Amino acid sequence: MKKKESVKKPALRYYRKRIELFRLIDKIKLWPSRKGLLHGIKSVEESGLQAKITTHCNKSFIVNNSKTSRAARWLRNKWFKGVCPECGIPDWKLEKYNSTRFKRHQGSFLPDNTA
Ligand SMILES: [Zn+2]
Repeated sequence: MKKKESVKKPALRYYRKRIELFRLIDKIKLWPSRKGLLHGIKSVEESGLQAKITTHCNKSFIVNNSKTSRAARWLRNKWFKGVCPECGIPDWKLEKYNSTRFKRHQGSFLPDNTA
């Protein structure tokens, strides 16, 4: 079987820099732990200013919606030391994450319909 592989680079995505954390994780579906390990997000249950996040390795925790939280900053700066072996984040997702840029005056605010 011949494998025709077109190595397509994922399109660059731009998000506003001061995007809310919940919007960010809703799109990216990745979570940087305090230890610097990137987890895949299985579900996010929003309730007001907090959300319960469950990762694919079945950890869950409550986070506050904030533009300036550690997690938001880490996600924007793509700070992580490694990828959680239990979450099994697919490469394409990491690629997509890797091609995401954050600029102050460019890109989407990812507006929701309730705004
Ligand atoms: Zn994990």
